[in-house]
Amino acid sequence: MSETPAKTCIYPGCERPAVPPNPLGGPQPSFCDLEEHNALTAHQERQRLAKVTSDQQAGRRESDG
Ligand SMILES: [Zn+2]
Repeated sequence: MSETPAKTCIYPGCERPAVPPNPLGGPQPSFCDLEEHNALTAHQERQRLAKVTSDQQAGRRESDG
């Protein structure tokens, strides 16, 4: 018996547990059971967050100097 540490969904901001690995084998998915959480939407969300962050930094820079 070996306990594997619980994996958490890697979708930005999501803290749900990742779905358990398929009993037939294969790697454990990196996302929870929400349909909208997958590699594509996670990528899009990271892009969106990156843009929001860079916009904030750009705005901050104007008053910085
Ligand atoms: Zn998730």
